[in-house]
Amino acid sequence: MTTDSAAAAIHPLTHLTEDERLLRDSVREFSEAQIRPLVREMDEHAKIAPGLLPRLFDLGIMGVEIPEQFGGAGGTFFHSVLVVEELSRVDPSIGVLVDVQNTLVINAILRWANPEMKARLLPRLASKTVGAYALSEAGSGSDAFALQARAREDGDHWVLSGQKLWITNGNEADIFIVFATINPEAGYKGITAFIVERGMPGFTVGKKEDKLGIRASSTCELLFADCRVPKASVVGEIGKGYKVAIETLNEGRIGIGAQMLGLAVGALGHAVKYTKERKQFGKAIADFQGVQFQLARAATDVEAARLLVYNAARLRDLGKPFLTEAAMCKIFASEVAERVASLAVNLYGGYGFVKDYPVEKLYRDAKIGQIYEGTSNLQLQTIAKNILT
Ligand SMILES: Cc1cc2nc3c(=O)[nH]c(=O)nc-3n(C[C@H](O)[C@H](O)[C@H](O)COP(=O)(O)OP(=O)(O)OC[C@H]3O[C@@H](n4cnc5c(N)ncnc54)[C@H](O)[C@@H]3O)c2cc1C
Repeated sequence: MTTDSAAAAIHPLTHLTEDERLLRDSVREFSEAQIRPLVREMDEHAKIAPGLLPRLFDLGIMGVEIPEQFGGAGGTFFHSVLVVEELSRVDPSIGVLVDVQNTLVINAILRWANPEMKARLLPRLASKTVGAYALSEAGSGSDAFALQARAREDGDHWVLSGQKLWITNGNEADIFIVFATINPEAGYKGITAFIVERGMPGFTVGKKEDKLGIRASSTCELLFADCRVPKASVVGEIGKGYKVAIETLNEGRIGIGAQMLGLAVGALGHAVKYTKERKQFGKAIADFQGVQFQLARAATDVEAARLLVYNAARLRDLGKPFLTEAAMCKIFASEVAERVASLAVNLYGGYGFVKDYPVEKLYRDAKIGQIYEGTSNLQLQTIAKNILT
């Protein structure tokens, strides 16, 4: 390879291809025009605005990686990450709705479902149906494989009983990936993933949580009382649900990194704009070096978070190991989101503390990044294991 062609083959991590740029720009435009005006109302009512969901489907971002033959966009994992970042810049609640759809639900089906299940579910998920991913329970969060939900065999059905907690998209979803054990004595080797559809007898969506942040994103309890699902509802193999969960969550946490990155970009954007407009002591507060240095540090944080998130996503698309990088991007981006949103509140002064301005919401929204899809301690555990072995 000549020096010139070697140089041409090397791209900065933040270099976007034409396709990636077009996607990012279209989601940015959509978010500003169609989501921004609804953010406050959705946060107050803790509900996605009616009419927004179909528009997300029309934009093609609810089935980013679904192959075109099933009506999807035929994109990459990196495309999903760009979409989640751009949506979260404006509203992290919409970011996580789309993130769970793509990086957990569709991802699990693409990787683990048989051809019949793919043909049955993917066209719906690409065009009109929201999905949810139900692993956590009241007694099993970090220790997810201590789950208690049971699946009992009965003729050509499995019968599910138990409860799930904290399930994102619970209010909007029609297709649920539910993890239950077929044999508690077998430990993690009993865990199996099932498709459960809204309306199946014995399945109800329970209480919706009233949350600190990402309030428009629904978080619900799911209840199973002898819910009969056909044998063809098993995703992947019986007893291999733990693999489905581990592999999808490893990738999903890059999506949460992207959500937190987008949030930080949004908060920094508000802070820059406001400090250039707000005058104290006869000049814009952005003219004070103390403020400039705070903004500069936040911009550096955001750039570092972006490099970690993009690198983890690109490694995943290249089929290279990405586990440690995914954990690093999630923990770092979620801390950056909290720091930058907090700074934005500070720089808005009193106006940062009230709901008429956008930054207090981002500050509340940031907290979840350190909790779901593996708390920060669990990410540190993954990173430490890698360094120490
Ligand atoms: C808004 C929201 C949306 C969610 N969406 C979903 C969803 O769609 N699907 C789903 O299945 N789940 C979902 N969850 C659940 C989420 O993944 C869990 O809340 C998370 O994994 C933590 O579990 P826990 O709440 O039981 O906390 P715990 O596991 O009880 O942890 C409590 C504290 O103990 C620490 N801790 C636990 N074990 C260790 C350890 N070994 N070493 C060091 N520290 C430890 C944790 O870091 C944490 O600080 C959601 C949660 C929320 C709040």
